[in-house]
Amino acid sequence: MEDIFITNDDQRAILKTVARFVDEEVVPRAAKLDAEPDPAAGFSWEIVEKAHELGIRTMTLSERWGGLGTDSLTTAMVIEELGKGDIGVSVIFAQTLKIAQIMQKALNAEQQQRVLPKFAADPRGMLAIGITEPDNASNYFLPYPTPFRTQAQKTRGGWIVNGMKHFISNGNRASHYLIFVQTDRDKPMAEGATCFLLERDRPGFSIGRVHDKMGERLANNAELIFQDCFLPDGNVVGSAGEGFGVLAEFFPQSNAYAAATVLGVAGALHQKAIEWARVRVQGGKPLIEHDGIRAQLAEMRMLIDASRSYIHRACWLADHQEHGWDRTLGALPKAMASQAAWKIATWTMEIHGGHGYMKELGVEKLVRDAAAFLHSDGVNRTLFLKAANFMFRD
Ligand SMILES: Cc1cc2nc3c(=O)[nH]c(=O)nc-3n(C[C@H](O)[C@H](O)[C@H](O)COP(=O)(O)OP(=O)(O)OC[C@H]3O[C@@H](n4cnc5c(N)ncnc54)[C@H](O)[C@@H]3O)c2cc1C
Repeated sequence: MEDIFITNDDQRAILKTVARFVDEEVVPRAAKLDAEPDPAAGFSWEIVEKAHELGIRTMTLSERWGGLGTDSLTTAMVIEELGKGDIGVSVIFAQTLKIAQIMQKALNAEQQQRVLPKFAADPRGMLAIGITEPDNASNYFLPYPTPFRTQAQKTRGGWIVNGMKHFISNGNRASHYLIFVQTDRDKPMAEGATCFLLERDRPGFSIGRVHDKMGERLANNAELIFQDCFLPDGNVVGSAGEGFGVLAEFFPQSNAYAAATVLGVAGALHQKAIEWARVRVQGGKPLIEHDGIRAQLAEMRMLIDASRSYIHRACWLADHQEHGWDRTLGALPKAMASQAAWKIATWTMEIHGGHGYMKELGVEKLVRDAAAFLHSDGVNRTLFLKAANFMFRD
């Protein structure tokens, strides 16, 4: 925690609480949950309920709704701290904290009144966002001019939704969702998709398969299935056909939060590499006294620090856009942090030698976890293309 850029006492107190939560509630459970063969069983309601008691689950809600009103910079620090303990735990809260932030801006007064007090009071209240579908993934990041396959037909008082989303973080655990659905079939998704608020108990909505992931196993990802699911007009977020406006306007820090999650894993790996290099003796002295190893530990530190600076800049500017928000900050910090984490994962495994490949030291789990964000929140190559479009096309 000492190397995080903390500027005030509130941040310090929040991060201290989160670090204690990670030490006491996450770390002792993580290896066992990670090893559960059933992909749904890695998720722990005990961890969620404990986070609720400590105010972590709702910290981005404003005081009016019972939260702490944390800004994006502080939230990114919290997400990184959670990621040091376990990436899946960081993801389940990063999604919930981010979507709560969005809901306070994007939902109208009636929707806020309907959702936010319930979410705040429910110790198991979790949030999810459903955009990706089997045929449309990188397509919506760029965006490629095609419609979503999940479509809605207008009916009296609302919309009938059919289709499916997949890979959705918290998909099987959320109480409320934001869902992107094609409401005008003749238009590309960027012009004809609508963002809907979805309550879990809507008839016609069900959870499909829980995906069996390589890592990040303390978070669940699931398919969302819509079979003649009626969503009332009152559940449209913003206005019909303006879903991509909601994405662009209210999600600026999403990419930086994803970056903070995987940066937490990079920090945990770095720590392990240092500890091992101190105790493992080869060539007559501890590894840390061999220049090649020492230099690599410093290079890891540089990658972590530079990624963190990028994340903090993106988060601060997302909240203070008048000081020079640049849309590439909504695409590139995650690519940087995930590439850094992946490099640090392979180097840490190498420094551990064969011990890094064996499960008992925990490096193997972190390597699987570090891979999660090469694709999650957008494949890195796709994000470079997205940034290039901002730089050269728009
Ligand atoms: C752990 C995890 C959690 C996730 N959570 C969520 C969530 O909560 N909500 C949600 O909506 N989605 C979620 N996703 C989905 C995620 O955003 C997508 O996986 C991601 O957008 C990539 O989609 P894809 O895997 O289908 O890859 P594809 O889009 O099929 O891409 C495959 C490859 O093709 C490349 N490619 C694609 N288009 C182009 C192009 N035009 N030019 C050149 N190369 C191209 C890509 O860069 C990539 O290398 C999650 C994914 C993962 C893995």
